[in-house]
Amino acid sequence: MGTRTVLRHIPAAAVSEGAGVLVHRSLGTPGLRHLDPFLMLDHFASANPDDYIAGFPDHPHRGFVTLTYMLDGHMEHRDSMGNRGDLRAGGIQWMKAASGVIHSEMPRQVDGLMRGFQLWINLPSAQKMTDPAYLEVPAAGIPELTEGDAQVRVISGTLGQVRGPIDDPHTELLYLDVRVNAGGWARLPVPSGHAGFLYAFEGRLEVAGDRVETHQLALLGEGDAIEAAAPGGPARFILVAGRPLGEPVVQHGPFVMSTREEIEQAMRDYREGRLVRTAARVTGSPA
Ligand code: MN
Repeated sequence: MGTRTVLRHIPAAAVSEGAGVLVHRSLGTPGLRHLDPFLMLDHFASANPDDYIAGFPDHPHRGFVTLTYMLDGHMEHRDSMGNRGDLRAGGIQWMKAASGVIHSEMPRQVDGLMRGFQLWINLPSAQKMTDPAYLEVPAAGIPELTEGDAQVRVISGTLGQVRGPIDDPHTELLYLDVRVNAGGWARLPVPSGHAGFLYAFEGRLEVAGDRVETHQLALLGEGDAIEAAAPGGPARFILVAGRPLGEPVVQHGPFVMSTREEIEQAMRDYREGRLVRTAARVTGSPA
């Protein structure tokens, strides 16, 4: 097996979400609708409070997992399971919406830099109507190691002997935050057969001879590793990969199911106050 090349570059598009939060969306746009098992990637990055202060007041989700990685800033999370989360810089929030969650994600700061990612990961159809679950991991719970000329934070999956705190058994999720030193180079294993992409968010990269600019998603071809260099100065990216589910995806906003009927049911359930089946607090391992 060889090194993965870049099949396509998808520049992030500015989108207004929630009550008026500016996000850079790459996956989940007409340029790349879905990448089984991934549904959406939003990057929020702004030092201007007008771009984020309105936050994401109460809204529903059904049928998938959201994984939020906070780089800078401070957000408060409240959900219909009874969780009250406190997401700080370097921390991770994993939320399996499954049969239904209503939650809010609101900034706790009124100025300064707010930066992070939210990735939507699909669930197999047999999992979509199971109970929701929630897990928060602070920065100190995410292992970091050196690989070549890069510092790598392992959020999910394994790198060498190091295993990240988030485990998505349905997709065998790999999620790494990689910082390559100026002029440096790193080779990182990615399971072959898994869909994969990287997203550059500081500096620019060279991946298998291709240039990847800041705020670009690079869709990766087949192979068992990537090679990333940072010839023009330090560069930082997230590397994400997962096993495709190979199931139909029918999406309507925050509801992602397998059939149109299930979407209509979700809309009806939400309208009639039946989206949330499990109001009890459910916290624990993603497995
Ligand atoms: Mn949400």
